[in-house]
Amino acid sequence: MASNPKIAIGYDLGGQGCKTGVFEANSGELLSTATSKIIPSLSAQQVFDGICRTTEALVRSTGHSVSQIASACLATAGTLGPESAQEPSEIDHILISPNIPQLNGFSFRHAFNKQWPGVRFLMENDANAAGWADWFYGIGQEKEVNTLLGFTLGTGLGGYIIINGRMIRPAELGHVIVDYGEDALQCGCGCYGCTEAYVSKGGICRLAQRIMAKDPDTKLHTIPVDALDPLPIAELARAGDQGAQETYAQAGKYLGRLIWNIRRVCLPDAVVVSGNISRSFDLMLPSIEEYVRQDPLLEHFPVIRATGLGADKAGILGAGGLAIQAVRT
Ligand SMILES: [Zn+2]
Repeated sequence: MASNPKIAIGYDLGGQGCKTGVFEANSGELLSTATSKIIPSLSAQQVFDGICRTTEALVRSTGHSVSQIASACLATAGTLGPESAQEPSEIDHILISPNIPQLNGFSFRHAFNKQWPGVRFLMENDANAAGWADWFYGIGQEKEVNTLLGFTLGTGLGGYIIINGRMIRPAELGHVIVDYGEDALQCGCGCYGCTEAYVSKGGICRLAQRIMAKDPDTKLHTIPVDALDPLPIAELARAGDQGAQETYAQAGKYLGRLIWNIRRVCLPDAVVVSGNISRSFDLMLPSIEEYVRQDPLLEHFPVIRATGLGADKAGILGAGGLAIQAVRT
């Protein structure tokens, strides 16, 4: 080991706290983590100062010094700015934070540069950071994965494509239209037939309601109306209810249509799914694979699976991976 090895810092800043991770930059190993609490009454500068204190104590606890920090990346929810930024190295502040409004407009880049001059600083949206986690610490590290297509399944349907370590940020991947039928479901964006209208928390519930309207025997009717949610639907599917199984099979078919289309654009080697609903991804996978395999033009079939990284670690691993990449290149 070098006598003065570089370290990189990853941050996952959420409404309750900021999780900090210290990484060994050469090996990529996550050495230690700590969380600083965020109290709503704190000002932006006080939040930042708290993050720095936690970082410095954590760095010392790993046997390193602050002077060894080569780079840092902060991942957080919200709209990040400036709006023209395309790369994490160009992002420097939060335009609109959904959880910590006092941070709106606060320049983390400026504050970090002042605190630790010479440290390379990056920022990334938390959903994209989870994607980077799969690229740096998950499926992206498997041999022959040069192009990774990723989806986040939750309240909405987000997505990204990473090609050779560069993220393509599609404008609205979840709003690609996959159903042009007359009975296509209306999406929150106002259009009909968007993938998100079928493959999301609300979408899966509406698919279930459609099936319930046609099938009086499905146990989906036992779920109280106000408790209809992908999780109890998945539980019924696992218990053998055909209506619940069909709900997930249909969601898989529509996600399969989206993958079919994207595949014809950029031929991903792997497809990875994260987010709350990814825990039920196994219920969708057979219909996704069945649909995608029907493509008569393309033989190169991608690996398709749910992320193996826990949601609690994805943000910090993605941020750390980006910070490490910034000093390796
Ligand atoms: Zn839409």
